[in-house]
Amino acid sequence: MVCTNKVLFALFVAVLGIGALTAFNPARAAPAVSEIRIGVHSEKLRIVLESDAKLPAIAFELGGPLRIVLDLPDVDWRIDPARGERGRGFVGSFRFGQFAPGRSRMVLDLTRPALVDKLFHIPPVGARPWRLVLDLAPVTAEAFTRHLARPDAPKAEPPARTAVIVPPPRPAPAARKKVVVIDPGHGGIDPGAVGRRKVYEKFVTLAMAQQLQKELARRGRYRVVLTRDKDTFVRLRERVGIARAAGADLFISLHADSIANRKVRGAAVYTLSETSSDKEAADLAAKENKADLIAGMDLTGESTEVTNILIDLAQRETMNHSAAFARVLVDDMTDLTKFVRKSHRFAGFAVLKAPDVPSVLIEMGYLSNSADEARLLKPSYRVELARAITEAVDAYFERRARENGQ
Ligand code: ZN
Repeated sequence: MVCTNKVLFALFVAVLGIGALTAFNPARAAPAVSEIRIGVHSEKLRIVLESDAKLPAIAFELGGPLRIVLDLPDVDWRIDPARGERGRGFVGSFRFGQFAPGRSRMVLDLTRPALVDKLFHIPPVGARPWRLVLDLAPVTAEAFTRHLARPDAPKAEPPARTAVIVPPPRPAPAARKKVVVIDPGHGGIDPGAVGRRKVYEKFVTLAMAQQLQKELARRGRYRVVLTRDKDTFVRLRERVGIARAAGADLFISLHADSIANRKVRGAAVYTLSETSSDKEAADLAAKENKADLIAGMDLTGESTEVTNILIDLAQRETMNHSAAFARVLVDDMTDLTKFVRKSHRFAGFAVLKAPDVPSVLIEMGYLSNSADEARLLKPSYRVELARAITEAVDAYFERRARENGQ
C-alpha cells in the first residue's frame, strides 16, 4: 500500500504530460467522437456521445436563448456537422466543434426550459465504445430562472458570447456511396401478418421502407435500393438476388409479426445463424420463409439451395458484421420501442442468406397487439423509427470505416 501514492503521482504526471501534448501538438490524436445520439425517454432527453476514450465533461445551462452547454477537452469530431441541424424532443438543434485551443464544446438549443439532470460515463462493453451520457429534464420557466440565479451558477460565459464554434470539416466523400438495400417483407399475393384491425403487414413494411429510404437518402452518402416499391410479390430468392446485384453493403429486411396472444408486443432484431436462438425464433423463421409457398411458387429444385446454403467462412464474417449492426440497431431503437425479452435473436431466415452481405431482419412490432398496430400506422412514429435505424446505419458504417483504417 505504501507505493500507492507514488504510483498515483506517476500517473498524475503522465496525465499532465499527455494533456500538455494535446494542447500544443495538433498532430497528436485527440479522443474521437464517432456518434451523437439523442433519445427520448418519456419526458426526459438523453444525449449520448460515443468516443474511443473517456471524455471528461462539464455541462451547464445558459439562458436567453435557452441552451445547454457541454464542455469537453480537444475532441476529434468524426460527425457530419449537418447532423445537428435537426434535434429531437425539446432539443431543436445542436452544434459542436473546437471552441478554444484544447477545448471542444457542444451547444444544444432548447425549445423549452430544461436542466441538466445527470452526466455520467459508461465504460466500453463488448464492441461498444466509451459513452458519455447527458440527461436533460424539462422544468418550468420559473425553475430554470431560479436555477440560473443560484449563487454558484456559472455567470455570464464570456467565451460563449465571443468565440465562434469552428465546425469540423465535413468528412471527405467516400469514393463510392454505400449501398443499403431495404426489403419490405411480403407483398402482392402474400399479405404477411394481418393485424387486429385487418391491417396487412405488407403495407406497413412498404410504408416503413419508403420512410427509411427517404431518411437514408437525406444523408447523401448512401445509395438506397428497395426490393419492391409497390404492392408486388417478390420471391425470397429474388430479394437476396436484388441485394447482391446492387452490390449491397447492408441489407435490412422489415417485417411486423402477429401471434395469437394479443398482449405480446415489442420489436426484435434478427440475424442469421445455423441454429435458432430459441424455438420462437425458429418458428418465426419458418413462418416468414413460407412466403414463397403462400404465393404458390413451385420450390422443387430450389428449396435445397435456399434452405441449405452452407455457412462458410465468408458467411461467418458476414454474420459477425450482421450481429454488430444488430447490436447498434437494438441500442438505437431502444429509445423508441419496447423489445421482446431477447432483443437480438438468431434464426435461419431465407432472406438473410446472401453469403457476402451483412443482413438483419427487423420485426418492428406485433400487428396482433393494438398498441403496436396503432404505432406502426402512425406516420410520425415511422419517421422516428426511420431516424433511429438511420443513426444505427451511420454508426455501423463509421465503425467499419475505422476498422478498415479509412
Ligand atoms: Zn413478415
